[in-house]
Amino acid sequence: MKYQKGEFRYEGKAKRIFEVVGSPDLLWMEFKDSLTAFNAQKKGSFSNKGVINKQIAVLIFRYLSSRGIKSHWVADVSEREWICQRLTIIPLEVVVRNWLAGSTAKKFGIEEGTALKAPLVEFYYKKDELNDPFVSDDQALVIGAAQDQAQLNALKKQALAVNEALVHFFSKMGIRLIDFKIEFGVSERGEVILGDEITPDSCRLWDLATNEKLDKDRFRRDLGRVEESYQEVLKRITSTWESQL
Ligand code: UDP
Repeated sequence: MKYQKGEFRYEGKAKRIFEVVGSPDLLWMEFKDSLTAFNAQKKGSFSNKGVINKQIAVLIFRYLSSRGIKSHWVADVSEREWICQRLTIIPLEVVVRNWLAGSTAKKFGIEEGTALKAPLVEFYYKKDELNDPFVSDDQALVIGAAQDQAQLNALKKQALAVNEALVHFFSKMGIRLIDFKIEFGVSERGEVILGDEITPDSCRLWDLATNEKLDKDRFRRDLGRVEESYQEVLKRITSTWESQL
């Protein structure tokens, strides 16, 4: 095989990370079957969740690449493992919302599923101990989470480009993209590119016709049919896009 799995580096909530022997600029990433919510206070899993999510994430990154948006994905090595570029992650979760949902709908006392006039981009400080708090641009700069205002502006611009592409991607398969979270990192070459994953763990996806939820809210809210919903998303992506990616 072209890539050789190296030393174990780190275990997160949904992934395990290893070195790649002889390639300090790459990482070996394994998608686990675990599901967590509310900062890992709620834990669950289903078998093959990691396999499904990795496939979804690859198809989405390939689609974004076809639209000129770069990600850290490099190559697949097994059904639940991939090789990606090693990034220095910018410690901000970038959330884009097209429709209000979840805690934000609650925060403003507006009904979940209310459309926004324009997509809203928000930053949350990536720090589990603090429950990833919302930060304003100035707060993000004060805590050193971003280099400068120009970098924050660039993140917003890139996030809106990802949103525009993904709204189209999902609408083609009868799915409404309510909101999602992405992470960016700086590559060895100094480029800011998409990292982490885009999957039903990190997006709110509603069926266009019925508003049925097809994402992690099924687990968060004990709605049942979690595995079936993730499978359904993968099935729709492959039947709609695979021949073109
Ligand atoms: N999200 C995520 N990881 C997080 C927080 C949010 O992937 O740590 C995703 C979540 O799945 C949703 C979007 O980001 O698609 C916006 O989440 P929100 O801030 O509304 O979270 P809530 O507090 O309502 O769960």
